[in-house]
Amino acid sequence: MVSTMNYEPVLLARINKPRSQQLEGYRQDGGYETFARVLREMKPEEVVARVKESGLRGRGGAGFPTGIKWAFLPKNHPGPVYLAVNADESEPCTYNNRILMEKDPHQVLEGVLISSYAIQARVAFFYIRYEYGDAYRILHESIDELYQSGLLGQNILNSGYSLDIVLHRGAGAYICGEETGLIESLEGKRAWPRIKPPFPAVEGAFRKPTIVNNVETLACVTQIMRRGVEWFRSLGVPPDPKNPRDLGSYGPKLYTLAGHVNEPKCVELPMGVTVRELVERYGGGVWKGRKAKAVNPGGISMGFLRCDLPLKNGEGTEYDIPLDFNGPGRAGCLGLGTGAVTVIDDQTSMIDVVHNVCQFFSHESCGQCTPCREGTGWMLKIMERLRRGRGRREDLDILLDVAERIGIIPGTTICGLADGAGWPVKTAIRKFRDEFEAAIREGKVSRYVRPLEVVATH
Ligand code: SF4
Repeated sequence: MVSTMNYEPVLLARINKPRSQQLEGYRQDGGYETFARVLREMKPEEVVARVKESGLRGRGGAGFPTGIKWAFLPKNHPGPVYLAVNADESEPCTYNNRILMEKDPHQVLEGVLISSYAIQARVAFFYIRYEYGDAYRILHESIDELYQSGLLGQNILNSGYSLDIVLHRGAGAYICGEETGLIESLEGKRAWPRIKPPFPAVEGAFRKPTIVNNVETLACVTQIMRRGVEWFRSLGVPPDPKNPRDLGSYGPKLYTLAGHVNEPKCVELPMGVTVRELVERYGGGVWKGRKAKAVNPGGISMGFLRCDLPLKNGEGTEYDIPLDFNGPGRAGCLGLGTGAVTVIDDQTSMIDVVHNVCQFFSHESCGQCTPCREGTGWMLKIMERLRRGRGRREDLDILLDVAERIGIIPGTTICGLADGAGWPVKTAIRKFRDEFEAAIREGKVSRYVRPLEVVATH
């Protein structure tokens, strides 16, 4: 078990300092010294090798190894290559990137500079979701500060390396966080995800090789280059010997707590803290003295843990699952996702929760793929029937059937939104089937359902 006692935050170390956003303060804390050293002393391929060695995996949801992603770029590409920063943080209850951008933007921007140098990008696009107005304004000022101080633009610090950052504000859609949807949106088009391959590292923004990295991932790059690979690998958990596909979960992680918890907040801890420890120790426990019934371990698209369900290995219940890249999958969830932990208390109906989730995904499906567009819509219609007390016995199996068939894992859709729409439905029905069946049997109406309006006709 990972020890979280006495852990000193690194990514969040500066967020409570007065004027933590300003370049002057960041430089007083040693900011941009690492970037200057990298420019002076390291070749780009050495930076890539170091990030690879650290075992850093993307913090945006998929957990793909960052250094390996960078190494996918074609060698000696004659044209431009780009870095695209994914700041379209749209997974419900996820706000770790927002905290970094609003409170310590230069830590993120230093990561952008180092990563751009590593992949030899001359332009980095910073794609930020529309709803993050404060973060957008703060980043705008921070980027201006960098140009004025010679840390951006032509021939940075007389190194011969040049970089521009283009800050791009999205228009607000969940699908813009999918990397190829983001690229389409960046190009001024509707954010329809692309069929892969080709992957963005081969053909991305404006048909040029593009690396898409998440904000927290880039902040980790800053810290890896500043503190070293050994420091990074000393945190978190090594690969699970029982899972040959697990690459380990190293480094610090920003977890966000939301839902029925006493102290919703963003917490930095080493990878691998258990859900129970995170909620009980760092979140102040479940609100109103209630018990945790279910938890989303990393955003709603990851599915549900049932807190009283014993684990097969006898190590407690699903509430004791470690929040690393391997943990939630062992309890039937899609993965660690964004590390956004949403707590659902024991007085909340899972039917209401799943209805809410279905509403979200049905609304956010971009509509390109029939299984996703129709599947999310039909799941919502069935959930609507269930919460009005008109559920049918066969509804649960139909929901499971739809949820199983939509997504890139079953191979029926272009992107993973559909998997993320199916996972909460199937984990909720499998783990809380007793509650669903009782509601259907009793014709239970959700307390949130408004009586149908009687429309006058003439
Ligand atoms: Fe769009 Fe859904 Fe297809 Fe993704 S899976 S491309 S969101 S329709």
